[in-house]
Amino acid sequence: MALATPYTDKTDEQKAICEMVHQFADEQILPKAEHYDHEDSFPEPIVEQMKELGLFGVTIPEEYGGMGLDLTTYAMIVEELSRGWISISGIVNTHFIGSYLLMKFGTEEQKQKYLPRMATGEIRAAFSLSEPECGSDVQAIKTTAKKVDDTHYEINGAKMWVTNGLLSTLVFTLVKTDPSAEPKYKGMTCFIAEKEPGVGENTGEYAGFNVPPKIKKLGYKGVESTELVFDGYRCPAENILGGEEAGLNQGFVQMMDALEVGRVNVAARGVGIAQRALELALKYSQERKAFGKAIAQHQAIQFKLADMATQVDAARLLTTRAARLKDAGERSDLEAGMAKLFASEAGRFCVEECFRIHGGYGYSKEYEIERLYRDAPLLLIGEGTSEIQRMVIGRKLLQRHKI
Ligand SMILES: Cc1cc2nc3c(=O)[nH]c(=O)nc-3n(C[C@H](O)[C@H](O)[C@H](O)COP(=O)(O)OP(=O)(O)OC[C@H]3O[C@@H](n4cnc5c(N)ncnc54)[C@H](O)[C@@H]3O)c2cc1C
Repeated sequence: MALATPYTDKTDEQKAICEMVHQFADEQILPKAEHYDHEDSFPEPIVEQMKELGLFGVTIPEEYGGMGLDLTTYAMIVEELSRGWISISGIVNTHFIGSYLLMKFGTEEQKQKYLPRMATGEIRAAFSLSEPECGSDVQAIKTTAKKVDDTHYEINGAKMWVTNGLLSTLVFTLVKTDPSAEPKYKGMTCFIAEKEPGVGENTGEYAGFNVPPKIKKLGYKGVESTELVFDGYRCPAENILGGEEAGLNQGFVQMMDALEVGRVNVAARGVGIAQRALELALKYSQERKAFGKAIAQHQAIQFKLADMATQVDAARLLTTRAARLKDAGERSDLEAGMAKLFASEAGRFCVEECFRIHGGYGYSKEYEIERLYRDAPLLLIGEGTSEIQRMVIGRKLLQRHKI
């Protein structure tokens, strides 16, 4: 049984796209997720179909070969993909952040060079801030880029937890370019670091860009998370996001802007996994009997279902609000933080309630909830932990309501 995701407040175009992606998740993702999760292998056939559906170019303008849709529609698509499996949306998500960075800050040459191939999914993008010794505290990064001749910078250092780290071609990488800058964020630059997709030790023009074996994880399998090691990697100055003149030492501000849309994106994933947990709980609770009746007839179970459904709807509304504000060109930092905080926690809550409703079977790999239970915690961490979201929300509240 698959509940139709409510179609309230969607344009006809959004309804049509969501219906198409919902069906894609039902037919192509959900039946196969268990296999790829178990093997922890990349779901290549699913990704090939996503390319055909144009899902790698949803927000890329039509002039560069994409669909030219807004963040709100993108978030709706991400919810549907994540309802199928959050790893599938993970393959698109950092790619989306990379295309956002190019669209907003890239030079025309950079857009022409990369966006058309990104729109078709021919090349994919990753996004790299975190390092082995820091994640929340982005200003503590240590990876450096130093100009070595007229045309090139040399990058040295290690990055951590890069989603799509191996199979991507482009990695939007934040590095220090002015170690003496105060405050530190004024000395950071975003490089579009190119490499050969799928290659651990790059050679030739990409020599010095190495991708160690993928990190073994609790969940969020199938999509690779890797470390990146830069050891004398020569990156052309023209690959500074926005060009050397405009982009040098602007990386922190660019990446923080991208995190704002990234947070809407993770919120949508929280809604998707919460929605799926609700669907599974509604089904199982009407099938399973205890004390002579379906467990759904016990009030304690109905209360769980009621709390789950309320959280799913509230999370979706917060996510849509944040996306619409951004699309309208209004400030949405506070709202994106709220959406990310609430929806990722709603994802965890709904998955745990669904797990409890399944009793002992929730602990068995025979049931889908077992995968969701391992996948959901990632959303509490990626694009800023719940603690960091609360810090962002608190800070923005005080800025907006200064007395
Ligand atoms: C599967 C996976 C995929 C990821 N993909 C990417 C990616 O593609 N690109 C990328 O750049 N990063 C990625 N990350 C990294 C992720 O963004 C970081 O893990 C996250 O930002 C937290 O950083 P940390 O792990 O270093 O934890 P820390 O920053 O070390 O935090 C540890 C704990 O301390 C808390 N804490 C930290 N500072 C404060 C404070 N000031 N007040 C209160 N509490 C605080 C945190 O909330 C957390 O609970 C990924 C992570 C995972 C697990």
